[in-house]
Amino acid sequence: MIEIKTLASSSKGNCYHITDGTTSLLLEAGIKFRDVRIMLNFQTSDIAGCLISHEHKDHCMAVQDVLRTGIDTYMSAGTAETIGITHHRIKPIKALESFEVGTWKIMPFNVEHDVAEPLGFLLANRAGEKLLFATDTYYIRYRFRGLTHLLIECNYSKAILDQNIIDGVVPKVMRKRLIQSHMSLENLIDFLTANDLSKIQEIHLLHLSDTNSDEALFKRTVQKLTGKLVFIA
Ligand SMILES: [Zn+2]
Ligand SMILES: [Zn+2]
Repeated sequence: MIEIKTLASSSKGNCYHITDGTTSLLLEAGIKFRDVRIMLNFQTSDIAGCLISHEHKDHCMAVQDVLRTGIDTYMSAGTAETIGITHHRIKPIKALESFEVGTWKIMPFNVEHDVAEPLGFLLANRAGEKLLFATDTYYIRYRFRGLTHLLIECNYSKAILDQNIIDGVVPKVMRKRLIQSHMSLENLIDFLTANDLSKIQEIHLLHLSDTNSDEALFKRTVQKLTGKLVFIA
């Protein structure tokens, strides 16, 4: 059974702890490792690996400490190069080339963000569960079957963003960057509609914007559309 613990999820920092009961992993290292340790009650010695999606600080600021702790850390070559690190525990990975960490079989895939070589991850375990992790991507070009757990960005809603621009809360120049780098509620709805959700147990909405989102509305909308259990990370 998959257990998901959100340690942080926003443009200030992202980090998730997942386990299938046998192998535990960190998804992202975008908060201080000291805080990761505190939030996990200092139970970090069993973490078998850390996956990093891309080089933005809110996803990788603690990567040095994670490596120093002796945790194998998986990222694309483009991400490692842009961060500017080399370490024997960095495991370079490529989109559509699967690899294993303990009981997880992990398939990285390309996502759409304004960075070097960003990745999303499809994680399957031996119990037949499938978790999709996709953040900082305005669109997902793939379709998935048999997902049981969904951790997916829902950064903003176009309606809220446009109102914020009219009100002068958000500068107009931000709009273009946002719509080409982060997932809107509207694009998420399209993704959910296009995918087989029959086996989904949980949906976690990630990386909500402070100004352009509405937790209650996002949760209600996705719950109504899917009939699934929805959490705001
Ligand atoms: Zn981010
Ligand atoms: Zn980013």
